[in-house]
Amino acid sequence: MRFSDVIGQDEVKRQLQRLLSEGRMPHALLLAGPEGCGKLPLALALAQRLLCSNPTPEGDSCNECKSCRMAAKLAHPDLHMVFPVFKPSGQSAGAVSDQFLKQWREQLAETPYFDRNTWLQRIGVENQQSLINVSEAKNLLNKLVSVSSQGGYRVVVMWLAEQMNTEAANKLLKMLEEPPAGTVFILTANHPEQMLGTILSRTQRIDCKPLTDEQIACALQQHCGLQPDDAQAVAHAAEGSYIKALQQVNMHADTAQFFDLFVLLMRLCYMRKVKELYQWADQLAQWGREKQKAFLAYCQRMVRENFVYNFHRPELNYMNRTEADFAVRFARFINERNVIGITDELSLAQRDIEANVNPRMVFFDMALKLIVLLLQ
Ligand SMILES: [Zn+2]
Repeated sequence: MRFSDVIGQDEVKRQLQRLLSEGRMPHALLLAGPEGCGKLPLALALAQRLLCSNPTPEGDSCNECKSCRMAAKLAHPDLHMVFPVFKPSGQSAGAVSDQFLKQWREQLAETPYFDRNTWLQRIGVENQQSLINVSEAKNLLNKLVSVSSQGGYRVVVMWLAEQMNTEAANKLLKMLEEPPAGTVFILTANHPEQMLGTILSRTQRIDCKPLTDEQIACALQQHCGLQPDDAQAVAHAAEGSYIKALQQVNMHADTAQFFDLFVLLMRLCYMRKVKELYQWADQLAQWGREKQKAFLAYCQRMVRENFVYNFHRPELNYMNRTEADFAVRFARFINERNVIGITDELSLAQRDIEANVNPRMVFFDMALKLIVLLLQ
């Protein structure tokens, strides 16, 4: 990650580059600001710049030297990552970030703009507490006693520093105050007010502002291939958060895919194509559980909308253009004889998915029942 890859934040970039060029880089820095403004990307770009052996005249990392290549893959021995984790069941020792480095790299390869929920889903926790705990702090101290393996800076990037518990914070205090030579801590926080005063007082704070609509719209066109009008609309609703903007874009993509698969399901059921229905079920079985549930919720909504469509009361219908076009031909198949049965089958499938029943069987079974229901 280079500074030039970070969306907007020109003022913060200039500030960081000035600290670097004047040799005033503090040993503990806190990037604070609202979620989705790009604090983690900034932290990663700064880390790579600190580790780079051949920075550009503009003050960015070169992205070509060995250090840059290792840093970009998050595989630099002097780059340490700390983020909230949880203790997997059955593990007696406290959990540390290093255990989740594989998932962390996967996430960052996808995008460095993501929130805590996305991260927790990736590491397989939904409702558990995640923390930066004292085992993490001890692990970090152990790693930092040894000298830098490459002879240059050693960088610690801590994501969501407000999730550090008191015990861990106390353990790190001394290190933050007097770190070994050449060590730079880069903390990021959405809610610095939740952090201990003793930690705050030992860091130099830099505030990052929300992104502008233009910056978000421009990035959406560049990275997600959105048309200017769509990009502008999404950017406006994102309220300065590129994370929110990406979630919007992904939701639109999901809806389009859900629509196609709903239509396919209805066609295959109507034509009694059992073999193809099995393949359809198999395709959905590859998805994550959350997406499977979201799809079934979408199908229930479509069934309801098509049922309502028959009453010719457009003010009661909430469909997009594509969905409404489909309803013109399809709505007559959803009637008072089958609407409850179909909805029940869809919600039953949703419950089975929730209860971890084999998704291929759930979807295939449901499809077979829909064949009968659709012809009523
Ligand atoms: Zn470099």
